[in-house]
Amino acid sequence: MDNCIFCKIAAKQLPANIVYEDDELMAFKDIKPAAPIHLLVIPKKHISSLSDCNASHHELLGKMLALVPKLAAEHGIAPVGDETGPFSGGYKTLINTGPEGGQEVYHLHAHLLGGPRPWTLDR
Ligand code: AMP
Ligand code: ZN
Repeated sequence: MDNCIFCKIAAKQLPANIVYEDDELMAFKDIKPAAPIHLLVIPKKHISSLSDCNASHHELLGKMLALVPKLAAEHGIAPVGDETGPFSGGYKTLINTGPEGGQEVYHLHAHLLGGPRPWTLDR
């Protein structure tokens, strides 16, 4: 879609720090990280928001969500089950939807946030 920054990143017309790519999905580092690890998972195809999704998107949404634990493991933020240290792993997966949901970029994306706190989520 014209003038969509994430479409441009998907088409490699805009630079991004890409950490994963396949035929349907891309993941890259958030330009303004709110946590030590802050990645965005997008479909390459333009979908404005989660509220535009329906049963025809089951497979795509499943792939987006299933990519999260793989990325978390690769970036060292998977839960390790040890809560005695300063950082025991684990992460937050977030899809902001619509203006009251805090969505700023209208191309569907899932945030993956993790790493030692504090995080600055409330921007
Ligand atoms: P949201 O508020 O859920 O729409 O989140 C949009 C996210 O996209 C924010 O966390 C921004 O920092 C991030 N963002 C905006 N432009 C870029 C970009 N060019 N590259 C990487 N992340 C971006
Ligand atoms: Zn787009």
